[in-house]
Amino acid sequence: MTSEYEAAIGMEVHAELLTESKMFCSCRNAFGGEPNTRCCPVCVGMPGALPVANRRAVEHVIRTALALNCSINAVARFDRKNYFYPDLPKGYQISQYDQPIGVGGWLDIETSAGVRRVRIRRVHLEEDTGKLMHLPAGDSAVDYNRSGVPLMEIVTEFPPDMRSAEEARAYLVGLRAILMYIGVSDGRMEEGSLRCEPNVSVRPIGSDQFGTKTEIKNLNSFRAVERGIAHEIERQIDVLRGGGKVRQETRGWNEARQETVVQRSKEEEQEYRYFPDPDLVPLRLDDAWVESIRSTMPELPDQARRRLIAAHGISEKEAAWLTQTPFHAAYFDQAVRFHNAPEQIASWLMGDFARLLNVTQMGLEQSKVTPDNLASLVRLVDSGQISGKMAKAIFERMFETGAAATDIAQEMGGQISDPQAIRTLVEEVRAAEPDVWDALRNGDTKKTTYVIGQVMRLSRGKANPQETRRIVEEMLAAPETAS
Ligand code: ADP
Ligand code: ZN
Ligand code: MG
Repeated sequence: MTSEYEAAIGMEVHAELLTESKMFCSCRNAFGGEPNTRCCPVCVGMPGALPVANRRAVEHVIRTALALNCSINAVARFDRKNYFYPDLPKGYQISQYDQPIGVGGWLDIETSAGVRRVRIRRVHLEEDTGKLMHLPAGDSAVDYNRSGVPLMEIVTEFPPDMRSAEEARAYLVGLRAILMYIGVSDGRMEEGSLRCEPNVSVRPIGSDQFGTKTEIKNLNSFRAVERGIAHEIERQIDVLRGGGKVRQETRGWNEARQETVVQRSKEEEQEYRYFPDPDLVPLRLDDAWVESIRSTMPELPDQARRRLIAAHGISEKEAAWLTQTPFHAAYFDQAVRFHNAPEQIASWLMGDFARLLNVTQMGLEQSKVTPDNLASLVRLVDSGQISGKMAKAIFERMFETGAAATDIAQEMGGQISDPQAIRTLVEEVRAAEPDVWDALRNGDTKKTTYVIGQVMRLSRGKANPQETRRIVEEMLAAPETAS
């Protein structure tokens, strides 16, 4: 029983921006690479090296802030956030403190209880740190390729609007879709280019104050985010029930143990001594610039969803699923162009396809099944050449090997289209269930589907359903013979 407490959740989301070069120098911004090959005096923090702000990165943040219904500060400023850690060569991170680029926005999310508005406090721009690597021999090394990569932070408003792990997940799904649609982030949580740190607290229902929060780090999938938050809510409730106090601390999600473990407590938290960075001029974000970015805003997931519903008559739920990334929507568009069966294609994508992707921990973009190939499988079913059951078996092979649906169907062969063989099967069904057959004869035509189904079952899905229907109808039309 958890009903006498309620949770409150706020989110800090970091996204590495898709730019050619880093935030304050001209080094290449790309994931991976030989360690320390994409560095220069600026991004490894040599004394005297001067930063120059990346205009493209600023535009990405403005675009994001606009998509999240924020207002844009006329003047934004860079500040130094001072702390010591080996992955931060300057001893400070260039970030934004009291004059971020965007403030006061919101994102509407779909939850099982309906639409909920999550308010956003700020959208700001900073630089990423390097990466510490712990080597097998027990040594540590640092890779500065990531140092100085443009990093955007999006923080939800206080008091927090989210109340459950499910809502937090929906917020992240919705936010990620927007960032990918507007082309500012690749959305890759497993590679860490999109990172989310939920802040979680619980309080007795009816209380007008929020409980002490903890912050969870190290969540690199939607599943981890949802489980991590759910676990943390339970843990805090247990602490309160046991008469204890929740301590303000940072906790890390341990995937193997499926629990959060303490990383550092409030007492160890640094005082950052923010101050304006004297090396960088304030950013003047004049109306003309902001409006030109607004006027080139691409289609957002909400609009894409409405467009798909209008064009293909699919459901809200299907449309929401298909617009989780622009890749999903493009995949669907392409498949439908190849074979115009939107309902069936959506249902394959959300059903068997999604299930196998989930089992193999793959994204749609990594799958060997092309949109055309999925469409041709659906076409085989629609034209009655294969049964639904066979289609499932064929799809598993397509998923494994990427081979064409038509080739696999031919190879698996064995489809029974021979009228005599099918007639034998129908007679078997008639003998087993004479009542059904009588009802059919007396005009209960709905039973036809049932008989076809039984024939499919007997033939392990191999009977040609169209031929079966033809033969059933033919047998019904023939004068009754004693059997
Ligand atoms: P910090 O400075 O510790 O990072 P912030 O005040 O910047 O904390 O808030 C970070 C996020 O945590 C915001 O989304 C905010 O809404 C949320 N938050 C703040 N207090 C609480 C709380 N008691 N419970 C849940 N979330 C909270
Ligand atoms: Zn550099
Ligand atoms: Mg925080």
